[in-house]
Amino acid sequence: MDVTTLTLTQLREALRRKEISSVEVTQAMLDRIVAADNEIQSYLTISDELALAQAAEADRRRAQGDDSPLLGVPVAIKDIICTKGIPTTAGSKILENFIPPYDAFVVEKLKDAGAVILGKTNTDEFAMGSSTENSAYVVTRNPWDKSRVPGGSSGGSAAAVAAHLAYAALGTDTGGSVRQPASFCGVVGLRPTYGRISRWGVIAFASSLDQVGTFGRTVADCTALFQVVAGYDRRDSTSLNVPVPDYEAALTGDIKGLRVGVPKEYFIEGIEPEVETAVRAAIAKLEELGAEIHEISLPHTRYALPAYYLIAPAEASANLGRYDGIRYGPRVPGKDMIDTVKQTRALFGPEVRRRIMLGTYALSAGYYDQYYGRALKVRTLIKNDFKTAFEKVDVIAAPVSPTTAFKIGERVNDPLSMYLADILTLPVNLSASCGLSVPCGFDSNGLPIGLQLIGDTLAEATILNVAYAYEQATSE
Ligand code: GLN
Repeated sequence: MDVTTLTLTQLREALRRKEISSVEVTQAMLDRIVAADNEIQSYLTISDELALAQAAEADRRRAQGDDSPLLGVPVAIKDIICTKGIPTTAGSKILENFIPPYDAFVVEKLKDAGAVILGKTNTDEFAMGSSTENSAYVVTRNPWDKSRVPGGSSGGSAAAVAAHLAYAALGTDTGGSVRQPASFCGVVGLRPTYGRISRWGVIAFASSLDQVGTFGRTVADCTALFQVVAGYDRRDSTSLNVPVPDYEAALTGDIKGLRVGVPKEYFIEGIEPEVETAVRAAIAKLEELGAEIHEISLPHTRYALPAYYLIAPAEASANLGRYDGIRYGPRVPGKDMIDTVKQTRALFGPEVRRRIMLGTYALSAGYYDQYYGRALKVRTLIKNDFKTAFEKVDVIAAPVSPTTAFKIGERVNDPLSMYLADILTLPVNLSASCGLSVPCGFDSNGLPIGLQLIGDTLAEATILNVAYAYEQATSE
């Protein structure tokens, strides 16, 4: 049996039945990473010694009768999430060699559940990007076509799961960074409702938009990881103090009578015809499974991109102020303190600098109302669009990204075309909804296409179940 090809849920059963030990599985995964990740470059750090120690501990716990949900299951973590004792760079030179003294909330949750941490996955610097090419370290390749990007910013996590280099992985989604790479790599990616998962210990990009999300090769795998990391935590005052439902039990596959909205504004000019065809076929499949299809309108969709590119950089410019060479990471000594700060901040890459400049400008005196203030008003309009839509439908179905994975290098020098990759995912982040990407076919180049399912506030169970019904009906 090649254990690296098992899904997370299959592995979990094999571990429960003691057909295999966590040490064996972890070693098999680490061997596969050594053999295959040179080409894919999905990992920035492989924490092999720690992983094997965690696996041995999981096997001990199992022998004592422990049956924690992810006991002994090897997973990967995006390198923007703090892991005690394991380097956490956020894909940036400004955090090179930073070893957090504490675990993020989600990592605490993973450890409680018995998961084994294989390592940290590549990301665009501070999660700013849609291709993982903005990482200061390596360029991750799409496992389906190594001349193409895996999407981003959680491209390392998506590629690792797609290439069987982890059974599941954590990412973050501020504007699409879980759903878009999931779509490009043919895996399942969930972006929960803002506040569903505590952000404690997640390096901040845009605090009012950031949210941890989960990747799995199947809907059940993505759900199993989400089940474990969801939750409230008083160290993140924006996390929602509401119970965590049994998401795994909600995967019934029954969607009869469910109302599915198809927003006309999401089938825009610029969308590849093959993407549109695959998504429309998936929607027809949902209808076949008993769902009712309704055309709906989300009229302010076209303002999401400009609003996001004011709000996110504004928040980023404030959040990134702390990297001054005094408190975190490396210091580049200058002739005085100001010069030291300047020299150190020159470690930021071009995209991060662009965002800091945009954000600082948008927040500056005299421009605040005109830019940031207006963007916040647009955000309210977008929220209201979803509110109105969810009075009529239970879920919204749409494409994830207008295109399939593009070539490495094709968009790096054209920020606007890079930003457009997220035009259909950003509205979820600006509103109070949740969204996911589930594979729905391939284009003629053999590249995966994703179906986006959007749910109302805290309706993760609903969208996961729709994705599950679709997956069950379409996988052989
Ligand atoms: N691509 C978007 C950006 O560059 C979203 C990134 C994200 O979700 N972290 O800001």
